[in-house]
Amino acid sequence: MKIIEFCDTTLRDGEQAPGNTMKPKDKLLIAKKLENIGVNVIEAGFPASSKEDFEAIKLISSHLKKATVCSFARCVEKDIDIANESTKGAKNRMLMIFYAISDIHLKNKYNTNRKDAMEKIKNSIRYSKQYFKRIKFGLEDATRADPKYLHQVINLLLNEGVDTIALGDTTGWITPLETFKLVKNVVYQVNGKVKISIHCHNDLGMATANTLSAIMAGVDEVDTTVNGIGERAGNTPFEEIVVSLVVRKDIFKRKINIKLNALMPLSELVYKIINRTPSHEKPIVGVNAFRHESGVHIDGIKKDPSTYEIFNPKKNWTQARIFIWKTFKQEMTC
Ligand code: MN
Repeated sequence: MKIIEFCDTTLRDGEQAPGNTMKPKDKLLIAKKLENIGVNVIEAGFPASSKEDFEAIKLISSHLKKATVCSFARCVEKDIDIANESTKGAKNRMLMIFYAISDIHLKNKYNTNRKDAMEKIKNSIRYSKQYFKRIKFGLEDATRADPKYLHQVINLLLNEGVDTIALGDTTGWITPLETFKLVKNVVYQVNGKVKISIHCHNDLGMATANTLSAIMAGVDEVDTTVNGIGERAGNTPFEEIVVSLVVRKDIFKRKINIKLNALMPLSELVYKIINRTPSHEKPIVGVNAFRHESGVHIDGIKKDPSTYEIFNPKKNWTQARIFIWKTFKQEMTC
């Protein structure tokens, strides 16, 4: 059964949303928990963006033993130099470098054209290779790019020898069926030569559905954030993908190496650090995810929880109820 790997970007994409700033020591606490739970790659920050981010990545690099530390950079030589400096102490490291490929971004953001963009991408990868053995190339706004141009850029990335290609649904634009078709085409094109990763945003509430659709279409890795924190309406929530792959293994048929009983403490830690609590209805970790009030529901739950709960948090998610008790001091009704 194919394994799905996780690239967690809580400390980069999650942190860059308003109100989510984290101190280096807090980032380290989260990074250690992410490593412990089984996340493969930890995107630890954007070191060229601030001194604090640089310090955080340096700190995380010196502490992690198993997980790969990934440093974020634009296609700018100075960014790549700083990413190299920040991760020098890491046991396992890689570079995440990105460029937008939709015409909207090429014109509005870079004031460039498709041909010059390809040149920039090529030169940046070649420059990065003096430092990094492993490179993940993020195609920003890939889902709004011309599919023919996406095809060309992917061929360039294959020729330049990157390790992973991330398809960015940067604006939360795509739908699950479109995701499936797009990923299928890309997986066919790369033919196993590189890993394919999907990076979704939740502007239309479809990040989880799109990510799961991409998994069904054959991606190797998914970008997620704990509790779905991230720009605007957020990123794909880590816990939703993990639990979906477990509960509906019959459909997704994928293996994951994630410790389920560590999900709630991780969720709780991230909320604590950014000083927030989940919405009551938040899947998996919301206070109402396993609470019931209606008499009909409570009657069903008492007879057999599976009447209204599709998985049992007591079995694998032991911490779920403890978390709710601790936070809200309310007795569970089941
Ligand atoms: Mn993003």
